[in-house]
Amino acid sequence: MPKRKVYSILETAYERGLEAAAHGHVATYIPELGKADPNDLGVSLCLPDGTRYEIGQTDKRFTMQSISKVVSLALALKYCGPEEVFSKVNMEPSAEAFDSFVELDLRSNRPYNPMINSGAITVASMLKEHITFNKLLEYTRKVCLDPDISFNEAVYKSEKAHMSRNRSIGYLLESKGIITSGVEESLDFYTRACSMNVTARSLASLGVVLAMDGLDPFTGEQLIDRRIVEVVKTIMLTCGMYDGSGEFAVMVGIPTKSGVGGGLLSASDDRLGIGIYGPALDEKGNCIAGRPILELLAEELDLKLFDKTDIVDELRRAEEKERKQAERESLRVLRHRGVKTFLPFNVRSREKSGAKGPDKE
Ligand code: GLN
Repeated sequence: MPKRKVYSILETAYERGLEAAAHGHVATYIPELGKADPNDLGVSLCLPDGTRYEIGQTDKRFTMQSISKVVSLALALKYCGPEEVFSKVNMEPSAEAFDSFVELDLRSNRPYNPMINSGAITVASMLKEHITFNKLLEYTRKVCLDPDISFNEAVYKSEKAHMSRNRSIGYLLESKGIITSGVEESLDFYTRACSMNVTARSLASLGVVLAMDGLDPFTGEQLIDRRIVEVVKTIMLTCGMYDGSGEFAVMVGIPTKSGVGGGLLSASDDRLGIGIYGPALDEKGNCIAGRPILELLAEELDLKLFDKTDIVDELRRAEEKERKQAERESLRVLRHRGVKTFLPFNVRSREKSGAKGPDKE
């Protein structure tokens, strides 16, 4: 597709995103996040050949928040292995908000999935046994192809001072024997992970790495194990938008993870990575501009995971062509033999009704 066409699609998507942003609100339960400008918007695309298409504020820094859950999960799968990780955290979508502990308390002895707070705090409790936060930061820089990712001390402190809810989740996890030691350390690791400063561009880069099964598109280095990427993308698709994941998967069809800092990370398999920054959120805590933007991009750039429209249409056209060819062949044989009455039924009826029949010889 010509560059001009991609930019014009991106511009339309951006306009729709801006309209939607007017109806959203920035997160204020972490006071420092309340300082964000709700009108900020940036969209960055990164293709496997390294080409980037960008519009708006794509290099403005903001905290990763829940998008860090993707990186933490990948690392936990690497250091602890899937058996240990999924013995403590389930892989089922949750019908509750990201910071809820109702389901965990009443209906389960494992958090529903690693993309909600209870699941990610559990993942942090496992990870802290293997690596330091600095190692996580380094790894995040690597997989986001962005050496400038920094730690946002102000957001970290702000969240630490207002984290009664996450603290409740931590101690509930301990009461259920899911976290066996160091609740406070686990919460600290988790909150630090949420406070890494990324840009829409770094998220687009992580998106393309995931889209390419863990390969760095620029160097060809395997940054994340293929099998880990497969698990992570599947969980992003089914759980990445919290209790809005099902509808999002149907309407957008791209594995995506959101964060209350306004970020969205999307990985369109084998095609491209998308990073969005828009701190105005919807009622579920997802970037409100993201949905219209991604819906349009998915439709116009054929990014939907299960959209086989083109292939199905092509197959149908090929079948139709073959059928017509076969009809013509049989007509030719019959005419050659001087047998006019043995036309195939469908050809005869179409000729009678005056419909356009097969091409005449
Ligand atoms: N740090 C935030 C919290 O724990 C992350 C939530 C989010 O991005 N949805 O509440």
